[in-house]
Amino acid sequence: MGSIADRLAAVRERIGRACERSGRAPQSVTLVAVTKQRTIAEIREVLSAGAVNIGENYVQEALAKHAELGSGPVWHFIGHLQRNKARDAVRLSDWIHSVDSLRLADELSRRAVAQGKRQRVLVEVNVSGEGTKSGVASDQLAALLESMRSLDGLAVEGLMTMAPWVDDAELVRPVFAETRRLAERCAAAGLLPHGAHLSMGMSSDFEVAVEEGATLVRVGTAIFGPREAAS
Ligand SMILES: *Cc1c(COP(=O)(O)O)cnc(C)c1O
Repeated sequence: MGSIADRLAAVRERIGRACERSGRAPQSVTLVAVTKQRTIAEIREVLSAGAVNIGENYVQEALAKHAELGSGPVWHFIGHLQRNKARDAVRLSDWIHSVDSLRLADELSRRAVAQGKRQRVLVEVNVSGEGTKSGVASDQLAALLESMRSLDGLAVEGLMTMAPWVDDAELVRPVFAETRRLAERCAAAGLLPHGAHLSMGMSSDFEVAVEEGATLVRVGTAIFGPREAAS
């Protein structure tokens, strides 16, 4: 299967081709290497192969890794976040992708202010309407963003979405397209910055996500190989 460096290069190439197909500049897409369940050795390997951005989705695991690796990499928290973990999440994350309620946003903002920081966040939106997925419903997004305006500790940079898992990535294209439209509408209403970030696409569907406007793709398996157990 090749080394982590080879697979990282292959993913970059695929992102580059998806950019070409859709007339986008390759620099407009940031690859977040998802390092959950990976060892420190594997993470060092991907960093030395040129990855800069890494994504974790459990606070405890991220804390342990942060203690080893420090603040050199750009840390993205991409998992479901509980309010009692907000302080640690703010301490270690450059970006938090998974804000999906005002209560969580408020807690993150308070923790960020206390730490003298402006926390970059994305709001996770549940476009597909799947009951089991986290994220705010599309029709409640504008209200949530409106309420978040007064939160001084946060810099709201855009939206994140998780598409349902399907065999054929083409089937989730409408989810990504709809997420982009939502972001555009919110930007027009002054609720998001113009050119807001879109965190969408994983190993199974990142090319389609790039074609639909993703600026941050979260890729684990395609770089590191399969994880031990589903998570
Ligand atoms: C695990 C995970 C990913 C990466 O998934 P792969 O299929 O391994 O690329 C992306 N986003 C989130 C939120 C995840 O939890």
